[in-house]
Amino acid sequence: MRIAVLGGGISGLTAAHHLRRAAETVIFEARSSPGGTMRTCREQGFIMEWGPNGFLTNKPWSLELARELGIEARLLRSSDLARKRFVCSGGRLHRLPETPGQFLASGLLSAAGRLRVLAEPFIAPRRGGEDESVAGFARRRLGPEAMEKLIEPMTAGVFAGDPDQLSLASCFPRIRELEQRYGGLVRAMLLLRWERFRQGARAEMSAGPGGVLTSFDTGAQALVEVLAGSLAKELRLGAEVEAVSRAGAKFRVAVKSAGARAESDFDAVVVAAPAYAAAAMLRGLDQELAVELSGIPYAPVAVAALGYAAADLGRPLDGFGFLVPRLEGRKILGALWDSSVFPNRAPQGQALIRVMVGGARQPELARLPQAELLAMVRGELKDLMGLSAQPALERVFFHERGIPQYLKGHGARLERIARRLEALPGLELDSNAYRGVSLNDCVLQSKLAAQRLLKALAAS
Ligand SMILES: Cc1cc2nc3c(=O)[nH]c(=O)nc-3n(C[C@H](O)[C@H](O)[C@H](O)COP(=O)(O)OP(=O)(O)OC[C@H]3O[C@@H](n4cnc5c(N)ncnc54)[C@H](O)[C@@H]3O)c2cc1C
Repeated sequence: MRIAVLGGGISGLTAAHHLRRAAETVIFEARSSPGGTMRTCREQGFIMEWGPNGFLTNKPWSLELARELGIEARLLRSSDLARKRFVCSGGRLHRLPETPGQFLASGLLSAAGRLRVLAEPFIAPRRGGEDESVAGFARRRLGPEAMEKLIEPMTAGVFAGDPDQLSLASCFPRIRELEQRYGGLVRAMLLLRWERFRQGARAEMSAGPGGVLTSFDTGAQALVEVLAGSLAKELRLGAEVEAVSRAGAKFRVAVKSAGARAESDFDAVVVAAPAYAAAAMLRGLDQELAVELSGIPYAPVAVAALGYAAADLGRPLDGFGFLVPRLEGRKILGALWDSSVFPNRAPQGQALIRVMVGGARQPELARLPQAELLAMVRGELKDLMGLSAQPALERVFFHERGIPQYLKGHGARLERIARRLEALPGLELDSNAYRGVSLNDCVLQSKLAAQRLLKALAAS
């Protein structure tokens, strides 16, 4: 039995990791190195991430994969400072409250805004109806001020997206589930805390997401390097898949490599490339499926990495970093204080800041020429952090199609895609374009795709 995995990002590599125990597996990756978005640049003692800086341990899947690969000892836990997060308000950085008491005392929201949040338990849950946007949900349950000052920047932080366009059910399914199951967010929080208390666990409430942000000693790419190393025999680099077609009961995969085109046949295929690339590959196989896939948009993101002498910072980088709400009218989405989160990301006596630019909010800014973008970023850091020092090192990592946007109607689109796939047994779609963008989600979905495929092949 032969299976092709098309795309060697974390999704494709994870799927191949599970498939190759049961089947002859070949991974085709268009670029000269594996990992896709998960890439680390190591220069002058700085460890700079192109994309993800880690995963959260509130879901077990990345941890499980690290254990399976035998690299637990290389896991790097973030410093406790990572729980301290800031948000920009009125041009200044405010610490996000971590407890109900801090929230009530915080000047981040006006008194009316805080009262409106306190009214959340009295808002009736919404059952059924059309796919609600993240913003619609937040305004309805928490009020317009909390939406603009807290939920909008958080959505930009995760999806680089516009909460008025994004689907709550697809982007934050757990939050929707909490409303459905418990009737509201405060009720859910109290009941879950009570449940944890009864089980003897420490009940806590935090402004940040649950779990501990975790990465690897030499950066996120370490996971890719180990995975790809264990798949060295299966991995074909510089192999761009052009098309997938039918060859009797098999799939024929056409690949361009070193200027030459070759075709080979497989019993099954996992398409682990981004949705737009999957659309191009599958157009000849199923035009309607390709149209659905190309309807999933992506937001561009530029990541500016700036290294400073710690003495020049003017303020301690005592936290995770900060997010910037759109109502502030600034030119960056936020900044991560990477060397505070993971101290080894900068050499001794230096500090690393990564600034996110663009997204669905200001896509044109992500595409600025590098020198212009860096000047703009330095200006924003000066205004918001009082940081006027010249960086010792500057790099820009650009993702033209950085993060898929699960717009309203995404769930219905996935159902239509699933119906098209019913006619194509042996073909699985697996990437961050469908059911979660986090590394944890990619790792889980890839494992599930591999299991489904092996089960279906065993049954046929
Ligand atoms: C700036 C940024 C920051 C992020 N931060 C975090 C974070 O802190 N934590 C977190 O959990 N997640 C984060 N994410 C999200 C996470 O990194 C991604 O969702 C995840 O890496 C996507 O993996 P993937 O394999 O699905 O897709 P990709 O990484 O896009 O991989 C797809 C692969 O397919 C290949 N390919 C494309 N076309 C073809 C073709 N025709 N033939 C062969 N191969 C092809 C590509 O070259 C690529 O290698 C971040 C993302 C970005 C952009």
